[in-house]
Amino acid sequence: MKDIFFILPRKDFAIERARNFLKEKGYPQVPMPVKKHLKEYSTLYKYEDDEEEGFCVKETTGEYKVYVNTNIMEGRNTWTYAHELAHIVLGHHDDFPYNDLDDETLELLDQEVDIFVSEYLMPQYAFENYFFLKGRSAYLDSPHIGALKSFFNVSWEAMIFRLHNLGYQDKSISEYYISTYNERKQTFSRYTGFSYT
Ligand SMILES: [Zn+2]
Repeated sequence: MKDIFFILPRKDFAIERARNFLKEKGYPQVPMPVKKHLKEYSTLYKYEDDEEEGFCVKETTGEYKVYVNTNIMEGRNTWTYAHELAHIVLGHHDDFPYNDLDDETLELLDQEVDIFVSEYLMPQYAFENYFFLKGRSAYLDSPHIGALKSFFNVSWEAMIFRLHNLGYQDKSISEYYISTYNERKQTFSRYTGFSYT
């Protein structure tokens, strides 16, 4: 195993790779065409299993084969495809001896992948486009976060985290709005006899 001269995860490296990738692709509109992008770099195979969501193999010919578990929930597909794409674009299969890595290193490489995926699936330019078209509210309540989540086709957790990282709204505030939303909605309609959806 060759020496590793840097500390994982390489946050700036992962962000820069994701931004360059988006630039190369001409800044695609969201939801990101992840499957299309992945197919440009690899051949997709489907399999059924109860554990792993997917994995990627680099053949000695240099060809990438990505195996995607069809048992996983539909909504997770995007993230799984993006995860495998990130491993390829970040050069993990080229720079690391995948079969010899310990769990800790694999975990750190997956953290690098998460940084890439967040940047790739939820690029800042797409938020700016969204706010430009839909207007930017003073604060992002549960329905706003839900709309953004659908727009980008990601999970609640991923969206809350991304909003925090981009400085749009603190993570704890988003969590507060989401956890109290139903209660606040009921209180509001009880006082006014009016319900908003
Ligand atoms: Zn992984």
